[in-house]
Amino acid sequence: MPLLSFINVPPNSDFPIQNLPFGVFKPREGNARVGVAIGELILDLSVLEARGFFFDVLAAPVPSRSRNNLPPETAAASTKTAPATTLFASDSLNAFMALGRPAWKKTRDILGSLLSAETSTLRDNAELRAHAFHKQSEVTMQLPARIGDYTDFYSSYHHAHNVGTMLRGPENALMPNWKWLPVAYHGRASSIVISGTEVKRPHGQTKPPDAATPVFGPSKSLDFELETAFFIGPGNPLGQSVSIDQAEDHIFGIVLMNDWSARDIQTWEYQPLGPFLAKNFCTSISPWVVTLEALEPFRKNLSAQDPAPLSYLKRANDFTFDIQLEAHLQTARMREPQTITRTNFQNLYWSIVQQLAHHTVNGCNLQPGDLLASGTISGPTEESRGCMLELTWRGQNPLKLPDAQTRKWLEDGDTLWITGWCQGEGYRVGFGEVSGRIVGA
Ligand code: MN
Repeated sequence: MPLLSFINVPPNSDFPIQNLPFGVFKPREGNARVGVAIGELILDLSVLEARGFFFDVLAAPVPSRSRNNLPPETAAASTKTAPATTLFASDSLNAFMALGRPAWKKTRDILGSLLSAETSTLRDNAELRAHAFHKQSEVTMQLPARIGDYTDFYSSYHHAHNVGTMLRGPENALMPNWKWLPVAYHGRASSIVISGTEVKRPHGQTKPPDAATPVFGPSKSLDFELETAFFIGPGNPLGQSVSIDQAEDHIFGIVLMNDWSARDIQTWEYQPLGPFLAKNFCTSISPWVVTLEALEPFRKNLSAQDPAPLSYLKRANDFTFDIQLEAHLQTARMREPQTITRTNFQNLYWSIVQQLAHHTVNGCNLQPGDLLASGTISGPTEESRGCMLELTWRGQNPLKLPDAQTRKWLEDGDTLWITGWCQGEGYRVGFGEVSGRIVGA
């Protein structure tokens, strides 16, 4: 990847040429389409596709069992001569996600070359430039994919340990299964929303500790959960698991996620089948999908696991990424936002390939555009806890904010947003943000 673009990118930008995250945007006029972020601009891939720049992408080797289960030869041959569908004049990335890593890498190489300060043909083509760039401030971002299914893991040791300590005491904080498999629940895809969408305080059934019977009303303990989530690229057929060694090729990229949670509803409803209405009223994600290619310079070894996992969850050089993560709160009365937690993706005990291998080990079929989330990412210190439940220890130690304000839980008018980035030398590969403002029910 070239080090510099002919596009002016501010030094603190999340989106230098090293990043090139994919998203779906709608310009003021015209349909939604796919673009990549560069500095404060978006490069419109549908315009480039219409001019033939990506002709070779569809001819890239297609991994088996992708592209709607067509045999690879059929898929490549049928699209090379006359592409039946467009990849980028589309309101979702699903078709591109389904193509797999060789096509993603090829596209990234083409984009790197087009945007480079050295080799760009785009730079010298004023007419094309005028059509191919949009200002991010002038478009509306949409969900990057049609998300068919969504799963939320529970993979941060410190989060699981803190919550377990609150419920069962420190001796029994972790359930016996926790270090043997990546615990998860199936979430709801229909209520996943794009960053910036208002979050309506949910109503539900709760049972106050001192009440004899449950009551109904708006949640009184609305929380956020700082998470990341990854998008599935090529899927796997029902009945065929993805081995941990192949799992990486099924992962397209990562976004930030806020798993809004109503703790009072959760406390009353969750036993014995787990989260339900406490979670499925709204889940927010950031619009730009940062690819594993862009994250590669920030790859780190996964910490040793004790006990050693079963063999289907074990691979040589299992990995994580050094992604710095923060949550920020702005109440209606605050003049400036406050950063309320700082944590890191490396605090996840289970890796993304372990999560994917485990999810499919029983033959469960994942599909392009499915979303697999990390669970709340908490670190070892009080300042690195990833939700209000932990930060305030179930409301016992309210957050202290400027102007003598405090918060046990989120209140109407509060805006919570999560940011994330990898720090390189002189540049950062950033995720942008996922934000939401709470509005009363
Ligand atoms: Mn969660």
